[in-house]
Amino acid sequence: MSTNINEDNLPNLLELEKLANQFFKSAPGEDIDQFAQTEPLKEFNPVADYAGGIPGADGLPIALFGTHPQPPSLSGVGASPSAINQGNVINLKEPQTSFEDPALQSSNSSNNNKLPASPFSGSGLSPYNLNEIPYLQDRSFEKELQDTLNKINAAPAIPQLPFGVGQYAGDPSYYFLKPVPSQFSAARSTGASGIINPPFDVNIIRQDFPILKERVNGKQLIWLDNAATTQKPRQVIDRISYFYEHENSNIHRAAHELAARATDAYEGARKKVQNFLNAASVKEIVFVRGATEAINLVAKSWGEQNLQAGDEIIVSHLEHHANIVPWQQLAAKKNLKIRVIPVDDDGQLIIEEYTKLLNHKTKLVSFTQVSNALGTVTPAEQIVRLGHLAGAKVLVDGAQSVSHMPVDVQALNADWFVFSGHKVFAPTGIGVLYGKEDLLNETQPWQGGGNMIVDVTFEHTQYHDAPSRFEAGTGNIADAVGLGAAIDYVTQIGMPNIALYEHYLLIYATQLLKEVPGLRLIGTAANKASVLSFVLEGYKTEEVGHELNKQGIAVRSGHHCAQPILRRFGLESTVRPSLAFYNTCAEIDLLAETLHRLKK
Ligand code: PLP
Repeated sequence: MSTNINEDNLPNLLELEKLANQFFKSAPGEDIDQFAQTEPLKEFNPVADYAGGIPGADGLPIALFGTHPQPPSLSGVGASPSAINQGNVINLKEPQTSFEDPALQSSNSSNNNKLPASPFSGSGLSPYNLNEIPYLQDRSFEKELQDTLNKINAAPAIPQLPFGVGQYAGDPSYYFLKPVPSQFSAARSTGASGIINPPFDVNIIRQDFPILKERVNGKQLIWLDNAATTQKPRQVIDRISYFYEHENSNIHRAAHELAARATDAYEGARKKVQNFLNAASVKEIVFVRGATEAINLVAKSWGEQNLQAGDEIIVSHLEHHANIVPWQQLAAKKNLKIRVIPVDDDGQLIIEEYTKLLNHKTKLVSFTQVSNALGTVTPAEQIVRLGHLAGAKVLVDGAQSVSHMPVDVQALNADWFVFSGHKVFAPTGIGVLYGKEDLLNETQPWQGGGNMIVDVTFEHTQYHDAPSRFEAGTGNIADAVGLGAAIDYVTQIGMPNIALYEHYLLIYATQLLKEVPGLRLIGTAANKASVLSFVLEGYKTEEVGHELNKQGIAVRSGHHCAQPILRRFGLESTVRPSLAFYNTCAEIDLLAETLHRLKK
């Protein structure tokens, strides 16, 4: 099948879509679910048109992102539908599209035509060759589609990780318990049928998230507020319940069975975080309440200890208030100077300007890996390298990156990396400060109390090394364990798979939003993740949010705790849909359809 070429000598997207639709329509049909029943927005409706699926080699339809069966009911079993039953009959009730936009390749396209580049580009992490992504070259549709499927489904297998509890066969024991699989973990491991890193299928994945079945204003919930917080899979919810039902105790302290179970679960979660970030040691992982607390910890411990009047701190214009205010407070106290890396009109950091800000007075560079307001992915490795060349320490705010792309703190080489559990499918109230081990041990604690001491007299206290040094008092034990379960969950799906799927979803959503009359996208960087900030002519942002809410669509409207960057674009607020891997093209269609209706 050949494709039409447009004037830029690129494949014509609409033509491709039409051909695909004809192709899909000829395939066996299935019932269409609630999303598929939405009225077509325009001539091309991927949900309705793809409802039949694509015939596979065996004559059965294959899913665009997997080859799963319709999962059996698992209620009460406590096992994940996504982890079992990887058969060869599939649910195509909500098939997906992943059309690349030709504008991506266009060197002379206007800002408004720009679409996000791969989340891997420039990261050195890509297992995929961008030139092989569909529609960047003029190749036949079927071949391109199949190539994409193959790549997603052939992502390198990861070592098997239990979905279950810390007290799990093979998990290390940090206290005195022998690792014996409990009933709970046994059910999980049997459920997984030994299959790891299964093919990515959003329909199966969605069934792990009970809240996605919720109805809001009589409509199916569409959760597009993932930059604010993410929803939790059954595996995380069950794991926390299990903790309170079978393991609850304070940790490290009492020599009894439950203290041992709780300690193992908590320290097991720390180990999972270490693996997730590829930290060199488990001692580099400090549990905190979230990204905000982690940044405050660095400001109030390392910053208090090391910065002096006249020293300079560099942040970027993209920062969340959590990465501005603590430094401002410190600057006011110590007479420091804060300098800001500017952004261009697409919302990309201007690295040339950054290099001009660096000098011998620069003691700290603190910046975000992904902007929560615009979705810009910053060239983090480069920023860290340049900061180090100037002799500064560097902190990377990973609050918006860890759920969308693989993170390797050793490759990144930042001195600190922070994130919040609740943005990566874990509970609220738990987060992580990663710090290089020597640096953490050289840094004074910021809070004193139990748990962080080796010895206390009335004259003197000797502190533990990291991480305990920074974990005074009783921590959020259960939710740390929940974070471990969330990490198991995304690791089993595969962060590269998540990044690739979301990349296509973002391109799809960007294309559809651009077609809404009067809609101005804020943040058109070449490299973006998850976020689609916009304003709509003739409407206040809260009005748009309100209208979307009527349709069950949850988006954030406001300043997103990032006022400086919005003001850079002359705005006080935007509407901000933000994507996660459980979102679908059908949901994006409904978002776009509602916005079109609003404009009418
Ligand atoms: N940094 C960024 C980039 C964020 O998006 C957020 C929250 O939205 C934070 C820091 C603060 O995270 P938390 O409120 O979970 O501490």
